[in-house]
Amino acid sequence: MNFHVLTLFPEMVISGLNHSITGRALKNGQITLDAVDIRAYAQNKSARVDDYPYGGGAGMVMQAEPIYLAYEDMTREMEPKPRVIYVTPQGSVFNQTMAEELSQESDLIFLCGHYEGVDERVLEEIVTDHVSIGDYVLTGGELPVMVMIDAISRLVPGVLNNQDSAEYESFYGNLLEYPQYTRPVEFHGKKVPDVLLSGHHGNVDRWRREQSLRRTLERRPDLLEGADLSKEDLKYLRSLGYEEES
Ligand code: SAM
Repeated sequence: MNFHVLTLFPEMVISGLNHSITGRALKNGQITLDAVDIRAYAQNKSARVDDYPYGGGAGMVMQAEPIYLAYEDMTREMEPKPRVIYVTPQGSVFNQTMAEELSQESDLIFLCGHYEGVDERVLEEIVTDHVSIGDYVLTGGELPVMVMIDAISRLVPGVLNNQDSAEYESFYGNLLEYPQYTRPVEFHGKKVPDVLLSGHHGNVDRWRREQSLRRTLERRPDLLEGADLSKEDLKYLRSLGYEEES
């Protein structure tokens, strides 16, 4: 998977992703990251890439031309042209399903906005997807892009090894993950649940499934509607007070 980022702060994106699992994936070549400085395409000596908004109002707007030139340069040799994701609070909210879908692409281009945003005309020309990472406003698109690249990368085959498999994590099957424990057996008087020490795989699996259902019901009941639930799951959930919507 090749990630390409159009940004005013390439170092921020590169240094942010150059650690831990994404750092390892970059080193092993399972993902690549090419962060391009939009400022290098400024059309003036002072390297300005923003200007006042037409119609007045607070703040500055990123100009269309430098972004378009950077995009053209980036995609000159790319055929077919990859999807271009503009990260914006005005987009669809990013989730695990979107991460899974995007992880099927071979190349993805991300555009990071700054200031009050980006001249609409270049968005119309190059952007295929508008994606938000949540209903709040950040100062720039670099953190959202790092969040997205991290979530997508861990779904790229080979990026996670068996030890950190994505298979049973939260949102897998629309359920939250069960609680996790490690050594020691006792911490501050709290013991690890006996079933996890029993060595009985069937019982461990059932306990984890129930914990997963219970936790989803308590914390994110909205997810249960889209979850793949067996008769046994439903019976357990009903015993906790769950009522399906008719
Ligand atoms: N004026 C814009 C608006 O009201 O929609 C917000 C601009 S914001 C200060 C600057 C940039 O940060 C945006 O262009 C976008 O790239 C990024 N950004 C801010 N919040 C974001 C969010 N929740 N999700 C994705 N990107 C975000």
